[in-house]
Amino acid sequence: MTDVVKILKQALAEHQVLLGEDVKERYEHIWRMDQPLDALAVLLPSSTEEMSQILQICNKYNQPVVLHGGLTNLVGNTITDKEEIVISTERMNKIEEIDQHARTISVQCGVILEEVQNAVKPYELLFPLNFGAKGSAQIGGIISTNAGGLRVFKYGMTRNLVLGLEVVLADGTILSSMKKIIKDNSGYDLKQLFIGSEGTLGIVTKAVLKLVEAPKSRVSAMVGLKDYDSVVSFLKYMDRGTAGTLSGFELMWNNTYKTLTTEPAVVKPPIPHDYPYYVLLECLGSNQDNDLQRLEKLLETALEKNIIIDAAIASTEADLQWFWTIREDVRVMLTHFKYDQQFDISIPIPLIGEVANKITAALNQLDVVQTVFTFGHVADGNVHFVVGKSELNETTTEQINDIVYSPLKGLGGSVSAEHGIGVDKKKFLKLCRSDSEIATMKLLKKSLDPKNILNRGKIITIE
Ligand SMILES: Cc1cc2nc3c(=O)[nH]c(=O)nc-3n(C[C@H](O)[C@H](O)[C@H](O)COP(=O)(O)OP(=O)(O)OC[C@H]3O[C@@H](n4cnc5c(N)ncnc54)[C@H](O)[C@@H]3O)c2cc1C
Repeated sequence: MTDVVKILKQALAEHQVLLGEDVKERYEHIWRMDQPLDALAVLLPSSTEEMSQILQICNKYNQPVVLHGGLTNLVGNTITDKEEIVISTERMNKIEEIDQHARTISVQCGVILEEVQNAVKPYELLFPLNFGAKGSAQIGGIISTNAGGLRVFKYGMTRNLVLGLEVVLADGTILSSMKKIIKDNSGYDLKQLFIGSEGTLGIVTKAVLKLVEAPKSRVSAMVGLKDYDSVVSFLKYMDRGTAGTLSGFELMWNNTYKTLTTEPAVVKPPIPHDYPYYVLLECLGSNQDNDLQRLEKLLETALEKNIIIDAAIASTEADLQWFWTIREDVRVMLTHFKYDQQFDISIPIPLIGEVANKITAALNQLDVVQTVFTFGHVADGNVHFVVGKSELNETTTEQINDIVYSPLKGLGGSVSAEHGIGVDKKKFLKLCRSDSEIATMKLLKKSLDPKNILNRGKIITIE
């Protein structure tokens, strides 16, 4: 046992310090539960004060730590070195307050997203963030990765939903600003520094999250379109016509839609497989009948004007379930090949069609590539590629990375729309961030964590 672990054992209760076999029973990602965690120790604080105490000790002894939240990240953010100490936030799981008039919920960092969603439902309020990992992802991890999801277009990313934040800095300083207010121009907005910084600048211990009134109606439609220009026109047309209620606008390229609605997929296609592009749209409003009627009218006119070529409306709860299963059951794609590479990039909306088609054409030139599935939250400029391949080797992995990422340079896009940089995307950061931006990131890291103990080597390397 190292000296620092001995000191931590004295400072914390016995059950809060896991060692040896207890460490090996844990893992560093929910998809690698079969691989035992290798770390000096796992610490389980339950309060901000304990977190502060841990960091004071680790900082004093130059001990690197890795934060483990729900372990659902997608870019290697929680990869752990055997010389590191893991701080797991699972015991910091208290919902402290729901304020239905300020429309806020105050939570500790280890509260799981789905628990927040469920806790506010009885008040007819909504925490609008939603994505596939909601049953495991914790608020601290979500804030640290600035997670997005399916309704960013209407409600924004996590960044837009955090009103107050409490953070513990590398030296143990507690920086608390648990405010419930939306407007606060009293100097630098410090909380934004920590949102999306992947635990490299400070540890999020508590947050005040913004809630909205829960919508009373939800309507959806699956729409077929002839080309990408029509997709862009249709987005503007729908946004204008739905009085701020448009909440989802998910684009699928033809082969993606076909695959998601053909066995082994469990759902059938609501409209035929004949169209180049498909949009699954959603509006959240206040009156189901009125919203359905408005949607029907808008789609009729769009058909007459030739903006779209086919549409099916989800008019019942069962239809809604059916249509959204198509979009959410993306793992069906992975059953079609042995190996895959997945991408989460941003491109300005008008350029998406052309750039995505060029990337797909270039990928299809490679022998190793079997299929390219393209889809995305197009109203946010976010495109996903799932590249299916017949073999796994470093050369082709790099070739594929290069084909997808290199067009982003100069387009004002991003190599990471939602998932962050972690370690997997570190070398591509320079494709979407200038030298001076990266230098400023390093300056911030060195100022806030001079001994480089927090999530060392994630996002940027400090020499
Ligand atoms: C099926 C699936 C679907 C997903 N869909 C989406 C999606 O649509 N949009 C999206 O944006 N992401 C998505 N993700 C990615 C993932 O869910 C998010 O990145 C999530 O926000 C991570 O939360 P977590 O608690 O699991 O954090 P972890 O994975 O545990 O950690 C993520 C990062 O945050 C750090 N961290 C954790 N807790 C803290 C803390 N309290 N303070 C400081 N740093 C901390 C970690 O060290 C790490 O760097 C998906 C993941 C899966 C598995």
